[in-house]
Amino acid sequence: MSAPIKTRKKAKVSRYEPCPCHSGQFYAKCCGMFHGGAKPPSALTLMRSRYAAYAMHLADYIIDTTDSSGPQYEADRGKWKDSIESFASSVYFDGLEILEESLVGPEEAYVAFKACLRDALGKECGFSERSRFFLKADKWLYHSGVPL
Ligand SMILES: [Zn+2]
Repeated sequence: MSAPIKTRKKAKVSRYEPCPCHSGQFYAKCCGMFHGGAKPPSALTLMRSRYAAYAMHLADYIIDTTDSSGPQYEADRGKWKDSIESFASSVYFDGLEILEESLVGPEEAYVAFKACLRDALGKECGFSERSRFFLKADKWLYHSGVPL
């Protein structure tokens, strides 16, 4: 029998540590502002802040920045939170590469990215996705994604 895989502890990040979105900036000057309530000014900054939120297990941030008309939106918030937490606990967030950002219009944008992840055993389990975002009521929201 194999030993159960231990889940990782929450990644706590202080203000002057590098941002978990791998921008190279201090957390406080990068996604920390958005996690603290400031509105991301673009789909790209929202995307980065969502990656950092996954890395920090900020399930509420993920949920609150998901478009309720998108396919990933779940009515059962508790269940959704659990699934975000269990995903975030099962991987290491090694890096984020932005491949392309394209604005369709002032209220619609796509961001293609590669998320570099590793599972608990150290095996690479990253993925690439083209995500779609909408600006609704002055707030960028993640709508959906297509694997690349
Ligand atoms: Zn960041």
